[in-house]
Amino acid sequence: MDKNTNLLVVSAHAADFVWRGGGTIAKYIKNGANVTLIILSYGVRGESNDLWKMEDQSYENVKNIRRKEIDKATDILGINNVEFWDFEDYHMVIDEPRLYQLVRKIREIKPDHILTHAKGDAFNPDHELVSQSVFKASVLANSSGVQIEGLNATTQQRLFGFEPHQTEISNFTPEIIIDITETYDQKKAAMQCFEAQPHLIDYYDARAKMRGNHARRISGNKTYKYAEAFTRFYPHVGSEFV
Ligand SMILES: [Zn+2]
Repeated sequence: MDKNTNLLVVSAHAADFVWRGGGTIAKYIKNGANVTLIILSYGVRGESNDLWKMEDQSYENVKNIRRKEIDKATDILGINNVEFWDFEDYHMVIDEPRLYQLVRKIREIKPDHILTHAKGDAFNPDHELVSQSVFKASVLANSSGVQIEGLNATTQQRLFGFEPHQTEISNFTPEIIIDITETYDQKKAAMQCFEAQPHLIDYYDARAKMRGNHARRISGNKTYKYAEAFTRFYPHVGSEFV
């Protein structure tokens, strides 16, 4: 893993980046990568159901709780550059100004890799919208004809997509599986920060073990215990088979 890797992570809601990419993000940071995380919304309306069961609950209070959870989780994973864009969720709207906010950010950061939601998610239109918008923003950021004062066009990034919650129903097929054994304790501790979604901790613990099993089977490397799976938006390019 290259020490100077620049990784941009775009998460639709408060905790998506932890469930689906927390181990990989922590691994990149551990290896010296520069990671920027953008959290587009706090997931107040759609991904905080347990908090809404509490009496006299309010939008602002849910947002505050989620913010504290994110702060704890990002500390555990070692993510220092976190931006909160505070869009409303369920349903999220990414209009022209918001799309260009993403374009500008990509040109400022100049990421080698962008990690965001995979294209398909049968139950979550916000995730699909974010996937499509990040893809569009990267294409615009790389186009010299799209002129933004003070920001030069970027070179092609590699885009990767999170595994959606309902894997098979969303037609997800793993295209890259990353071993996260060395950072799994961090991921587990970060998952435990999200009190609004306790039912997901066991679920993603099982998923990491299952993908770890696939990682061992495919690679023959018996040291892989936990893994995360992703899609790749473009084929791998190199001078040999890897
Ligand atoms: Zn989400």
